[in-house]
Formats: sequence, C-alpha cells, structure tokens
Amino acid sequence: MKYFIGNWKMFGVPTSINILNKINSFRSKDKNRNNYRVIITPPYTLLESFAKYFRNKKIMIGSQNCYQKDKFSSNTAAVSPYMIKNLGAKYTLLGHSDNRAEGDTDLILKNKVKFALKNNLKVIYCIGENKSQKKNNKTFSILKMQLNKVLEKGFNKNNIIVAYEPIWSIGTGKIPNPKDLLMTTTYIKKILTKIFRKNSPAVLYGGSVDENNVGVFRQIKQIDGFLIGGASKSSKKFIDIIKNYYR
Ligand code: PEP
Repeated sequence: MKYFIGNWKMFGVPTSINILNKINSFRSKDKNRNNYRVIITPPYTLLESFAKYFRNKKIMIGSQNCYQKDKFSSNTAAVSPYMIKNLGAKYTLLGHSDNRAEGDTDLILKNKVKFALKNNLKVIYCIGENKSQKKNNKTFSILKMQLNKVLEKGFNKNNIIVAYEPIWSIGTGKIPNPKDLLMTTTYIKKILTKIFRKNSPAVLYGGSVDENNVGVFRQIKQIDGFLIGGASKSSKKFIDIIKNYYR
C-alpha cells in the first residue's frame, strides 16, 4: 500500500473542498486505486467539515499537529488529540520541521505521539536533517536521534507512518539523489525495525515532490509513499503526481 499525503499548511477555506472533490472523483475511477491511500491534512478550521464530508468516501482527513496533552486543559489556543478525533479526523501529522522550529522538542513530540495514539489517531511522524547537518555528514545521527527519542517499542507500529523530509528540500525544488535516498530510507527502516523489534512502519518521502519529479522515486520501491506540501493545493498537480507515479 502506498500513501499520497497532502499537507495544506496554512491554506484553505470551506470552498477549497472542491480541490478534494476532484481528487476523490479521480481516485474513484482510477484503476490503481486499491494500491494507494489519499490523506489530506487541512488546517484545524476545516477539519470537521472535511472529515464529515469525506466520511464515506476514500479521502482520509488528518490534522497538521496536536497539543501534547490528552483531552482538555487550560492551554489557550491548544487543540488536543481527543478534540481532533472527535471531529472525525483519522490521522495527525507530528514533528513537521515548521513545528520543530517553533519549539517542538523530542520530549514534547513523544507526548504528542503517545496521546495521539491513545486517542486512536494514526500518526504521521516527520523527521529530517537540515542543510548544515547534511553538509557535515550528520544526517544518520540526526535521524537516529529523532526516531529513538520519540518512538518507543510500546507504541503500536501499525498506527505510525514515518515521513522522511529533509529540511533543505522542503519548498526548495531540490530533491535528494536516488542513491542517497535509498541509503537513507534503508537506514530509517533499520532503526525502526530495531525500535519495534519487527517489521518497520511505512516510510514516506517528503520534500518538493511534484508531478514532474515523482517518477524519479518510483525506482526506490521501499518508499511507501509521499508527503506533499505545495503541490497538494492543486487538484491537477496532486492527481498528476499519482498518475505519473503509476505510469
Ligand atoms: C512539507 O512541508 O511537508 C512539504 C513536503 O512541502 P513541499 O512539498 O512544498 O516541499
């Protein structure tokens, strides 16, 4: 099973549901539809209406983040996993580099993952090195730390997806070369297999994926799908990514 996950970031108003409607109509007729899953993470403001609308359709909805506590608390503007789950969302994205940059530490992320799983949300956990870490050959040690400090054996690996998103690639148009990406995703799966003592959870790639470059990733069979930012805001681009992947 492959995943095509669209992260809308700070984008979208209620009428933006048209974008998802087009993706949903494409998917319902696509001969490859049983080989992949589409998940979209709109902003909090659209979670409830989108999750309700797509409840019996084939697009799943997730949040882009959640607070590090379980249910209710006195933290202004915070939204808990319990609240997200109650809106009908099935997934939550955690550890995105935008949120790490705003203060999400490994300890905070561990709590977020724990409470999200407790509330039956599936977690898409993002990891990735920045430009200077890559330049200084720190990629593997950074990824190992981001995995080991946040994920633990007791977490249900079936409810976790890991998204490898090199920060230097996000929104820049730059993508890793296939050889490096093969080595890095092999390493990530090795670490995950150690943590969970069995098979690794799914590992996705994210960072400047678009309809023109998605074919490059096809040769790396162990990549279980993609986390797509900019290109997920256009139904045409998102559909073309899927079409070109299966071409
Ligand atoms: C992201 O921010 O998760 C992302 C992958 O963005 P983009 O596809 O625009 O690089």
